[in-house]
Amino acid sequence: MHEFSIANAILQKILNVAEKSAAEEIKEANISIGELTFLNKEQLIFALKVLSKETKAEKCKFNICVIKTKIKCLNCGYKGKAVYEGPEYHILNFKIPLNCPKCKSKKIKIVEGKEVLLKNLKIKIKIPK
Ligand SMILES: [Zn+2]
Repeated sequence: MHEFSIANAILQKILNVAEKSAAEEIKEANISIGELTFLNKEQLIFALKVLSKETKAEKCKFNICVIKTKIKCLNCGYKGKAVYEGPEYHILNFKIPLNCPKCKSKKIKIVEGKEVLLKNLKIKIKIPK
């Protein structure tokens, strides 16, 4: 499943940070996922919970927010929200017919919406006695 491999990559990153900062426990992680990653938020949280068992992130609260797709039109210079053309199954089939809402050009560049970001972590650190 797509979500499990992404969740694993995110978790490795989190545990890496934890390692470097001598964390005792990871309390909270804020993650952003782009709309165009086609990740299911609930499934991603579920995967993170399963994979983090018996790690320092076991009790971590995973907050995930979805980033809307943003495009730049190479024809008219429009920058902003994307418009999907055609029925939704196209999107699910990974064919993304994105259009510029202003000039209808298909010559667009995706600016936002494809990324997975680990934004910040709340970490409990060990204080040396
Ligand atoms: Zn345009």
